Amino acid sequence: MFKKILIANRGEIACRIIRTAHRMGIATVAVYSDADAEALHVQMADEAIRIGPAPSAESYLDIERIVEACRESGAEAIHPGYGFLSENPYFARALAKAGVTFIGPPADAIAAMGDKIESKKLARAAGVSSVPGHLDVVPDADTAVAIARDIGFPVMIKASAGGGGKGMRIAASDDEVRDGFRAAASEAKSSFADDRIFIEKYIEQPRHIEIQVLGDSHGNIVYLGERECSIQRRHQKVIEEAPSPFLDPETREAMGRQAVALARAVDYCSTGTVEFIVDQQRNFYFLEMNTRLQVEHPVTELVTGLDLVELMIRVAAGEPLPFAQEDVELSGWAIEARVYAEDPVRNFLPSIGRLVQYKPPSGEGVRLDAGVFEGAEISVYYDPLIAKLIVSGPERDTAIDRLSGALDEFYIAGVQHNIPFLAAVAAKPRFRAGTLSTNFIPEEFPGGFAAPSGFVEADRMILLAAALAGRRLRERETAIDGKLAGARIEIPEDYTVLLDGRRYPVAVRPEGGAYRIEFEAESRVATTDWQPGEPLLHARVEQHVTTVQIERLPGAAFRLMHRGILRHAQVLSPRAAELLALMPEKKAADTSRLLLSPMPGLLASIAVEEGQEVKAGEPLAIVEAMKMENVLRAERDGRVARIRANPGDSLAVDQVILEFD
Ligand code: ADP
Ligand code: ADP
Ligand code: MG
Repeated sequence: MFKKILIANRGEIACRIIRTAHRMGIATVAVYSDADAEALHVQMADEAIRIGPAPSAESYLDIERIVEACRESGAEAIHPGYGFLSENPYFARALAKAGVTFIGPPADAIAAMGDKIESKKLARAAGVSSVPGHLDVVPDADTAVAIARDIGFPVMIKASAGGGGKGMRIAASDDEVRDGFRAAASEAKSSFADDRIFIEKYIEQPRHIEIQVLGDSHGNIVYLGERECSIQRRHQKVIEEAPSPFLDPETREAMGRQAVALARAVDYCSTGTVEFIVDQQRNFYFLEMNTRLQVEHPVTELVTGLDLVELMIRVAAGEPLPFAQEDVELSGWAIEARVYAEDPVRNFLPSIGRLVQYKPPSGEGVRLDAGVFEGAEISVYYDPLIAKLIVSGPERDTAIDRLSGALDEFYIAGVQHNIPFLAAVAAKPRFRAGTLSTNFIPEEFPGGFAAPSGFVEADRMILLAAALAGRRLRERETAIDGKLAGARIEIPEDYTVLLDGRRYPVAVRPEGGAYRIEFEAESRVATTDWQPGEPLLHARVEQHVTTVQIERLPGAAFRLMHRGILRHAQVLSPRAAELLALMPEKKAADTSRLLLSPMPGLLASIAVEEGQEVKAGEPLAIVEAMKMENVLRAERDGRVARIRANPGDSLAVDQVILEFD
């Protein structure tokens, strides 16, 4: 076994690999860029070597520098994690040349699977069922239209070099094929420096179900069940689970056998994932093979009881697989949610900054794979993943309950994050029913992510928490005032709670060490030890402890979050509420005529000119941040009066890009 390995990655996955290596008694070497000098993976490793400045191209993607770090430290092997160099055959070859073991598949297998057209041809030859389509490079838009008609609409136009959901367009008509062809090719050119495009059938109401495979260097290959990753946003996974609520044992076995056949066709060794798209009749079609450890591998670990990183290290060291296919057993249910630094309310724009507060959940069946700590910085340079929350339980319902509970308890301040959105997905009846498809998010959140305007189930708990918080706040203020005045002051029992502006009369009365809370037809007894200033309010209501996230705002106002519902609440005396209703509304500074940069970043381009009329939804400018292009669109129809920034400018948050009339 290796004595020392180097981890050529950062963030949660570097930390996760270090943890297993240490458990196996293997010393670890971290590498880091200038942006990561204080990062968690650097602190966790036994040694750390600086490899360059913040941009990935000059650090985490610099093959020579990483090979040199390996020599410097005497590490015998390298684990690449996912992303960065993990699927780069040149990296695997450079290591072989330097006499360092690559903890991953053979370079030839990576190369064979790195190209979507070539890998699909290989899959066909290996008897793997593939998406019907045209497996040759499409030279131009007219040929694309002819091929699309031949395949039958709708079709998927894809970059052969694609990955991470980029370079992909759905098209349902000739015109959409023409536009999609150009868009996919230009995106592929800028992201992968390779604009080869092919076209396949678009499978409707599809589910993404993938098979985990694992091989050793002695020719043994097994599959470790499936993961369903149908909850996607823009072809990127958001929530994954194992097993899939959709598969029956026969389909699972058929998919497993085909995945192993494909792995065998390229003499696969190490972990890999064969991705399939599955239609409503459980027909499955090969999409691509990822020749690395997958982001969502923990759900497989939780249902198989295996440590995939340990197995990768063991097979890389030449050990045979310690079990055979018939020994693989799946038990229980696991779900992973990706916690990203992005603002769901502002169309998932990435957010950066310091994690001023970071309070992850814990408890039975909760696993957290994180690469951060309180005070850590989320920078513009890398993937905005903060942590992966993974829950498990004996069956799916328990896992979902644990996911909801853990998300309510996961408190992050300092950067915007998608926890409310994840909680809202977990709370959807359709998610619980397991009737998933990759259209789940657009169908369940048609106008984007926003708080529902009416009173919903979660509002009961939010109203109760707001009333409790208002009451506790007054108790504390009264205790302080009372001491000063030396008098006892009565705390009112009747309140008007304004929940997103709607009024609810609520009564809160102490009752034997607890509070009786009455609103509408409800009467509940609750206890809490919440103190003003705490971010989580745990309330025990009839034996059940429920958590509501709460932030205090000026006045007796709060921002609350429960089960993905975000609310603003003001807890007033009925008299104050009446007075408030008579006050004219305060107007915020009018910024509606301005297009502001929603985040710090680089102004990549401006799509309009001064004097141009634009329609709502039209693209105005592109801001690059966190490896992503963010298209800023017009919120309503208007005319561009003045452009106040130039392409290439680096923008501060809220910097004015252009003005409307
Ligand atoms: P997996 O296939 O392992 O589930 P994904 O397909 O989601 O992973 O991501 C593939 C690669 O793209 C990963 O290596 C990840 O680091 C990177 N990636 C994923 N999401 C983002 C993002 N929002 N921004 C930048 N990179 C991303
Ligand atoms: P990437 O390399 O970016 O991960 P994939 O080929 O794996 O690209 O596709 C990513 C996602 O796009 C899939 O998970 C699925 O949601 C969707 N997708 C890809 N191909 C098809 C198809 N032919 N029909 C329907 N959806 C598809
Ligand atoms: Mg994929």
